[in-house]
Amino acid sequence: MSRRVSKTVMIQDKYVVILYVLLKRILGFKMKEAVLYQKLEKEGWVKCTACARYCIIPPNGMGVCGVRWNIDGKLYLMVYGKVISAHIDPIEKKPMMHFNPGSMVFSIATTGCNWMCKYCQNYSISQRRKVEGWVIEPDRLVKLALDYGAEGFAYTYNEPTIFIEFAHDVGIIARKYGLYNMFVTNGYQSIESFELLRNFLDAATVDFKGNGDPKFLRRYVGIRDPEPIYQSLLEMKARDIFIEITDLVVPEVGDDLDQARKLVRWVVENLGPDTPMHFLRFHPDYLMLDLPSTPVKTLEKHIKVAKEEGLKYVYIGNVPGHPYEHTYCPSCGRIVIKRLGFNIVEWNLDENNRCKFCGYPINIKGKLSSNWDKFRFVPVYLDIETKYVRVKSKRE
Ligand code: SF4
Repeated sequence: MSRRVSKTVMIQDKYVVILYVLLKRILGFKMKEAVLYQKLEKEGWVKCTACARYCIIPPNGMGVCGVRWNIDGKLYLMVYGKVISAHIDPIEKKPMMHFNPGSMVFSIATTGCNWMCKYCQNYSISQRRKVEGWVIEPDRLVKLALDYGAEGFAYTYNEPTIFIEFAHDVGIIARKYGLYNMFVTNGYQSIESFELLRNFLDAATVDFKGNGDPKFLRRYVGIRDPEPIYQSLLEMKARDIFIEITDLVVPEVGDDLDQARKLVRWVVENLGPDTPMHFLRFHPDYLMLDLPSTPVKTLEKHIKVAKEEGLKYVYIGNVPGHPYEHTYCPSCGRIVIKRLGFNIVEWNLDENNRCKFCGYPINIKGKLSSNWDKFRFVPVYLDIETKYVRVKSKRE
C-alpha cells in the first residue's frame, strides 16, 4: 500500500505571518516548531509528515488543515496550546464501548482538519481554518483534567493528527498521572505519526465514512483513497492500541451494503472478529442538508451484514433506545451491558469482564469505572485565567 504525496498547498498572505509575529509578542503565546516535517531541497520549502496528505508547503504557506504553517522554512504547529473546545463526556459518546467503560473523559479539540467532510457536525471549528483558542499549556491542561475528576483524555471533535505534537505533550504528562489517552480519528495518518503516537496513545476509535467507499470519500470528504486508513489500523494493532471502528452510514450516497461487507470483512480478517464496530446514523448538517437521516432499517441491514461476516460486537449509534446499543454475549446471547444512550444501566460481567451467565470472556480493556452511574457531561470553563487568541487565515 503506497502513500501518495499531496501537491495541495495554500498560500497564505505574508501579512498574516507578520500579524502572527506581532500577536506572539503582544500576547506571548508559544511559537511551536512541528516535529513531523522535513525540509526540502528547494529553498524554504517543507513537507509535512503528520498525516497522509503529506502536504508540500512553500515559504509562507500552510497545509490543507490550515494549522501547520511554513514560516521562514520551518513548519510550525499554530494551534499548539490553543484549545478551541473542552468538555467532559462519557467515553461511550466517542463512541467507545469496550475501553474503560463508564469513565469520564476530558475531551479537547483545536481548530482545523485534514478532511473536508461536507456533512461535518463540527464544521464551525474544523472547516473555517482559523487559528484560535484558549491558550493553555499541556501541564495546566492535565491539572485541569485531574481537578475535574476525568480519567483520561480524548483528542476529538476535529482530526487530532493535525495537532499531534500538542496531543503528544499532553498525553505524556497525562500518562504520568494515570490518565489514559484516546484518539477519535479518521485514521488518515502517516507512518511517521506513529513515532509519536506509540509514546502515549492507548486507544482509538477510527471513523470510516460511507462504508469506506472510495467514490464517497473522493466526493464528500476530499481524499483520493482510503488506503492510508487501513495502514494506520494495522500500525495501531501492531502497537497494541485498542481499536473500535465506526462507520457513518449516509443514506442514498454512502450506504452500499456490498461496500459495507467489504469493509467488515477487512476488519474481521485483519483486526479480528472481537473488534467492536458501530454503524452511525447520519443526520443532515453543514453542506449536506438535502439528504434525510439514515433510516433505522438501513442501519439494521448493516448490522446483519456485520454479523454474517462474523463480527461479535456490533452497535447502532445515534438512535437512542435501539436494542443494538447493548452488548450481547457472543456465546449465550444474553445482554451483558445494557445501555440507554451513552449511559450504562445494567452490568452483567464479573470482575474479569466475563459474562455473568456463561463465563464467556468479553473483549473489554479496563474495569467498569466507579463513575459509571454519575452524570458524566460536564462543561469545562477555559476562560478562567486563560487568554483567547485568534489569527485570521486567508481562507476565512
Ligand atoms: S497535517 Fe495538515 S499540513 Fe500536515 S500533511 Fe496533513 S493536512 Fe497537510
